[in-house]
Amino acid sequence: MSQNPLMPVEEALASLLAMADAQRLPESETLAVDQARQRVLATDLVATLDLPPWPNSAMDGYALNLQHWDGAPLPVAQTVFAGQPGAPLQPGSCARIFTGAPVPEGADCVEMQENVELLEDGRVRFTQALKTGQNIRPQGQENRAGEVLLQAGKRLGPFELAVAAAQGCTELQVVRRPRVALLSTGDELLEPGTPMRPGCIYNSNRTLLRHWLDALGCEVIDAGILPDRPQHTRLRLEQLQHGADLILTTGGVSAGDADCLGQVLRDSGRPLFWKLAIKPGKPLTVGYFGQVPVIGLPGNPASALVTFGLLARAYLLRLQGVQEVAPLSVEVPVAFAWPKAGKRREYLRARLENGRAVLYPNQSSGVLLGASWADGLVEIVEGRTLQAGDRAPFIPFSELF
Ligand code: AMP
Ligand code: MG
Repeated sequence: MSQNPLMPVEEALASLLAMADAQRLPESETLAVDQARQRVLATDLVATLDLPPWPNSAMDGYALNLQHWDGAPLPVAQTVFAGQPGAPLQPGSCARIFTGAPVPEGADCVEMQENVELLEDGRVRFTQALKTGQNIRPQGQENRAGEVLLQAGKRLGPFELAVAAAQGCTELQVVRRPRVALLSTGDELLEPGTPMRPGCIYNSNRTLLRHWLDALGCEVIDAGILPDRPQHTRLRLEQLQHGADLILTTGGVSAGDADCLGQVLRDSGRPLFWKLAIKPGKPLTVGYFGQVPVIGLPGNPASALVTFGLLARAYLLRLQGVQEVAPLSVEVPVAFAWPKAGKRREYLRARLENGRAVLYPNQSSGVLLGASWADGLVEIVEGRTLQAGDRAPFIPFSELF
């Protein structure tokens, strides 16, 4: 266990990714393409078709053979619509053709209809200079049969599913969902739907994390709310070991008397690290209980959100075989000053206004609403100060789902 100084974010991330690599889910399942969104491809998707499967026209116009053309107007010998095979081009003629229609054998050029003149006798006069291959999308321009289009480990979003559809696929082989036991800890927690009681709050982390886990392809085992009692905590962790790939908890990882989760993990489990150089989210606790990894997120909603988004998310993606787990981040000018250098890496909920990052006025780790107001997180590394107009990395929330 590292005590002081606090563990840097990179080190915590590397440690979580190493855990995931050691645990990598080997099982896969076959799913209908339409069911595979947000899942991870288990085997390479190999093209069975050239795309396009045949040369086709990029324009509505006229197809001709430039090689054997003397520049004179040409009669129209056939019309080819998309979806038709078309006949070979007769020498000394052109073909009326529409976008997406196969270019007739023997044609090597398509001129767009705006650039031709239709003569009274039905012939077509070409008024502009023509180039071989123009407006023809060659066979295999996008890919050849046999090429790997998507590699195993690719997350499947609408683009990837469409790539599979373009090959005529109806099913994909995907990694099985990680099973995540989700446990909220805290005597003060009530589930929405139960009457409010003095001293209590409603459980919001459960809702946040259930939906986020779902978006990351995970199956959630909802383990409910755990009271702040060590005996209960130990028992529940023992029960949850069976059937879960990860136990994800919120709350109870600080150093207070009621912070049982961290205590039990340190006393009866195998702690890996505790206390990060991150703000919010310092008490994040990671370890094993029995054979099962435990990620103990802090209870404060903004702390839970930041540590899940930056660390637990990466672990869950890598567990499914995703290699590139770092969210895209862009440098943006900030609309605020940050005069005091911090010892922890700060993640500030911010919105982009006219290209500048504006902070939510209340950055307290207990405030959830700022996340909904914001577009993402501004990252300020340890020791850095900023003046308004300086650039800092910005991670859009959309990247974290
Ligand atoms: P803890 O990490 O257990 O010390 O909790 C820190 C703060 O987060 C306390 O104010 C808790 O009441 C609050 N909190 C803990 N768990 C949740 C939860 N599931 N939903 C909303 N707030 C929570
Ligand atoms: Mg608590």
